[in-house]
Amino acid sequence: MNKISATLLVLFILISFGAGYIPPLIFLKWVVFLLAFIFIIRQFIKRNKSGDQSALKKFLTHVFFILVLAVISVPVTDVAKAKRNSVVCPFGTIHKSEYLKQSGSIGKMDLAIVDNQLNRYSSFFSTKTDSILHENRYYHFKSFYFEPKDYRTKVLVLAGVHGDEPAGVLSIPHILDELEKTNSVLGNTAIRIVCPVNPVGFMLESRENECGCNINRDYLNPTQIETKNIVKHIEDFQPDLIIDLHENNGNWETCVMVNKLISDEMGKQLCQSLSENGIALTDYAFDTSLPFPGWLKRSTYREKINDIAGLHDLMWYGQTKNIPVLTLECDQSLPIAKRITICNLTIEKAISIFNSSHK
Ligand SMILES: [Zn+2]
Repeated sequence: MNKISATLLVLFILISFGAGYIPPLIFLKWVVFLLAFIFIIRQFIKRNKSGDQSALKKFLTHVFFILVLAVISVPVTDVAKAKRNSVVCPFGTIHKSEYLKQSGSIGKMDLAIVDNQLNRYSSFFSTKTDSILHENRYYHFKSFYFEPKDYRTKVLVLAGVHGDEPAGVLSIPHILDELEKTNSVLGNTAIRIVCPVNPVGFMLESRENECGCNINRDYLNPTQIETKNIVKHIEDFQPDLIIDLHENNGNWETCVMVNKLISDEMGKQLCQSLSENGIALTDYAFDTSLPFPGWLKRSTYREKINDIAGLHDLMWYGQTKNIPVLTLECDQSLPIAKRITICNLTIEKAISIFNSSHK
């Protein structure tokens, strides 16, 4: 093969890659391919004329070689296209359009990616991992402990109780990043984060755990390994506040549900702060107007829901242990990136407001 056709073929592969980013280059790619082919034919004719016995053999070898390159060029373009269309979200790479637009669950995610992402923080935090064996695979309950010397309050954050509500889990790396900063607003708080609370559910994109149990209805008499794990954390850590990250079905805008140990004053400050940060809050839920947008007090929904003992058991459980529980119900009709922001903001604002009331 002469230098010209070899150069053209290198160019052909480079342009194939470029075509992933600039689609019209696909035409240029085939023009270059055609030119390389013409050069190879010309070479064959020249060799043939000069009586080269091996001309045909060389020609066929070269044709085979460039056909292989043509086949390879297709995945090369695809790889570049995938690179162009993807963004790195907290847990790996997903398609850009999905990431920006998609509401609801964002689809099944491999928990190995989640584990890898969270492992980045293992040198900064005391991580403790319990695991669960499901269909020959171990799933880990990761928890992160952050305890500055002089902390004001202890806060337990739960992410991913329901596996089809991914925003909370996806927001945790940002919170861990925030905790690493020396001037973090969360710096005067002892924080424990359990993420994901329901790892098999997260993996399967399912509300329930591997046994088909909604673990948010299992706190009062825990039967599930996930719930027992949380109860163990609560007994061991004795938090002053629990923040539980959930998402609603998209019928309402975002709201915060609380047990009666959280004051109206804190609710007002938190909802006002979320609203000032551009988060749309609902002013009704369970067919009832809320005292103010975003604030779903226990007394509001208690009268409206028959399944009182079952609704958000964690809040009942917290009440029996004298622990304030704040449950974020993020609007799942929003794009995932926005929901992650809402989770982050709620954690930061809620902790900062809670701390300032515990001077
Ligand atoms: Zn939920």
